[in-house]
Amino acid sequence: MNRFTLAECTSVDAALSQLQDGAVVKAGGVDLLDRMKDGIETPPKLVNIRNIAELRGTRETEQGLTIGPLTTLAEISSHPLIRERYQILSDACGHAATPHIRNMATVGGNLLQRVQCWYYRSADFQCIRKGKEFCFAFDGLNQYHAIMDYTSCPSVAPSSAAVALLGLNASVQLTSAKRSKRMVGIQELYVVPDANPTKFTVIEPDELLTAIIIPRPAAGTRSAYQKYGEKESFDWAIADAGVVLEMDGSTCRRAVVTMGAASPVVRRSAEAEAALQGKPITEETARAAGRVAVHGARPLSMNSYKLDMFPVAVYRTVLLAAGLCGRDPSAAG
Ligand SMILES: Cc1cc2nc3c(=O)[nH]c(=O)nc-3n(C[C@H](O)[C@H](O)[C@H](O)COP(=O)(O)OP(=O)(O)OC[C@H]3O[C@@H](n4cnc5c(N)ncnc54)[C@H](O)[C@@H]3O)c2cc1C
Repeated sequence: MNRFTLAECTSVDAALSQLQDGAVVKAGGVDLLDRMKDGIETPPKLVNIRNIAELRGTRETEQGLTIGPLTTLAEISSHPLIRERYQILSDACGHAATPHIRNMATVGGNLLQRVQCWYYRSADFQCIRKGKEFCFAFDGLNQYHAIMDYTSCPSVAPSSAAVALLGLNASVQLTSAKRSKRMVGIQELYVVPDANPTKFTVIEPDELLTAIIIPRPAAGTRSAYQKYGEKESFDWAIADAGVVLEMDGSTCRRAVVTMGAASPVVRRSAEAEAALQGKPITEETARAAGRVAVHGARPLSMNSYKLDMFPVAVYRTVLLAAGLCGRDPSAAG
């Protein structure tokens, strides 16, 4: 690990004034310190925002819910209002990583964590996400990689919270050192590797993520998230799904279906959504949504098993969101 200076900040203003000359923000530090210990990043300065009280907690407004980025995954998963009205988010945060990590990890850091591709995470491999020409995953070990939406880099979106927040049509507020603020939707937050392989999000080096804003769900909304992994816990998803259903009685008026570990950035499945909209939610419609969720997928040499896993993840999460079954005992977390 390299030598670095540490700026301890207790206000947003103080943190923003420190964001220069290669300084990097540290929230819980779970992802950032891993990257530094693995030798893939050597920032000269860390700006510790962990103790900025104004960036923590949740606030209900007329429009919906505002969540401070330093709110931990554990706090979100146990929050009564989130459990009742934004189930997809409490499911996603409550089943990410492990209880210990969820106590430390912040939701802002979770959204901004880097991909887990083992070639990217190893200092021994200089891949395109480090500004070089080559991707080792195409001809290498690619069992955890993407099956959709990739060209130059098939690493997958790691954030469970992003899968939920995309389903809820959330936005993030970014505040710059010049104190200007901008709102960015969850989909637009992420830069696809084909556009710029070394830039993972649209956040500039002098910007802080200062709030997450979720619109109030329409009446009759139900939602859920489930993650499937190789291990029961202590690991990222190999297939996951988020489902938001706006119901009119037993008919689905509008559906949003999201997936994380299928592609380099979180995605919505228009095909799965169309399979549910205007129809009653039943075993049959849920299965149909699962089947079409992998429409157009192009598995790599070692991950065609995901063509079976994603349909199951979507099918079971549709039924869970609709209240037609309990949480799948074989789901991870
Ligand atoms: C064994 C294991 C299993 C895991 N399983 C899962 C899983 O199933 N699902 C899942 O989603 N995650 C999983 N994780 C990842 C973990 O949840 C994230 O590493 C964690 O949420 C990151 O949050 P943090 O607060 O520690 O972020 P940090 O490490 O502090 O920051 C992460 C990145 O975000 C930037 N950053 C943080 N906050 C801000 C801000 N407010 N403004 C601007 N930039 C900011 C930092 O500069 C850094 O680049 C797992 C991790 C481990 C170790």
